[in-house]
Amino acid sequence: MARIRVGIVGYGNLGRGVETALALQEDMELVGVFTRRDPAAVQTLRPGTAVRAITDLETMPGEIDVLVLCGGSKSDLAEQTPQLAGRFTVVDSFDTHVRVPEHFARVDAAARAAGTTAIISTGWDPGLFSINRLFGEAILASGSTYTFWGRGLSQGHSDALRRIDGVAAAVQYTVPSEEAVDRVRAGERPQLSTREKHTRECFVVLEEGADADAVREAIVTMPHYFEPYDTTVTFLDAEELARDHRGMPHGGFVIRSGESSPGTRQTIEYRLQEDSNPEFTASVLVAYARAAVRLDAAGDHGAKTPFDVAPGLLSPKTPEQLRAELL
Ligand code: NAP
Repeated sequence: MARIRVGIVGYGNLGRGVETALALQEDMELVGVFTRRDPAAVQTLRPGTAVRAITDLETMPGEIDVLVLCGGSKSDLAEQTPQLAGRFTVVDSFDTHVRVPEHFARVDAAARAAGTTAIISTGWDPGLFSINRLFGEAILASGSTYTFWGRGLSQGHSDALRRIDGVAAAVQYTVPSEEAVDRVRAGERPQLSTREKHTRECFVVLEEGADADAVREAIVTMPHYFEPYDTTVTFLDAEELARDHRGMPHGGFVIRSGESSPGTRQTIEYRLQEDSNPEFTASVLVAYARAAVRLDAAGDHGAKTPFDVAPGLLSPKTPEQLRAELL
């Protein structure tokens, strides 16, 4: 059978992750990376990967089965996904939860008009965690759902630290409270405040001459980002930061705790532990790219979310194999 021809749009952490993930998929092949930058200035992880200008896509719909969109949610995807869904089958990892309905509507209109399929908001959260929240609610009608993130590096919070005067470099880890997780697992169904669910750990390299106390105060009092949490700040030097905080680990838990009859407790727990958030997210996007191609071939067009995609479509195995091996 012909292999699925995949294009990567945008080559940052996630784009590199998709390039890496595709190398493990026998039924898929990478056509190339498409970037807004000068292609000559973009160095790929794998030597054979073609890098082209994003504008080259205009003449390529017949050469690509699916585009994996790896731009940022903040400004890239709101524009790129509807635009590219007008000519290609696409998947994205749009993760601004409150703007998903608006994004869905714009992508749906473009994909329906063009007769393409666009799966949005794949990844792990939104994505696999969303599906597990849905399973929990649908199966345990009486219960509470909890999502804990971490221990993991938060890109947004690390960026916020780097914008503070006196900070030369920094990373931030989100850490789930062990006590809160234990109470949820025990079936207590506690009402947890923001402060009780997660703590934040900051590792900061100061600029020369910066006042450590002033920087610490600016961090722990920063509204929305750090003020609502118990936040620790550790100062270190640039070498220590480079040596000990290079990776982008993440993960977390979705737990549904409920009762199927009075006094009969039921718990569902789904856990992810990622050495690399972008490589894991990319692996999810690649599986959804396969599903998008199958939906498109079946004439099932328009925008979809992970809620709309049957799990068997993610697998390279046939339905017959899946029934025999995994059911
Ligand atoms: P990123 O590294 O900042 O890359 C975003 C875009 O910026 C790239 O597509 C690239 O576009 C451009 N870029 C990258 N490196 C550049 C450089 N050195 N100079 C100039 N431009 C550069 O972001 P990311 O870490 O890949 O994350 C992408 C998105 O993934 C996030 O915004 C988030 O929405 C999503 N995400 C979702 C989940 C989930 O579970 N759903 C999890 C993690 C991340 P060009 O090549 O066109 O320039």
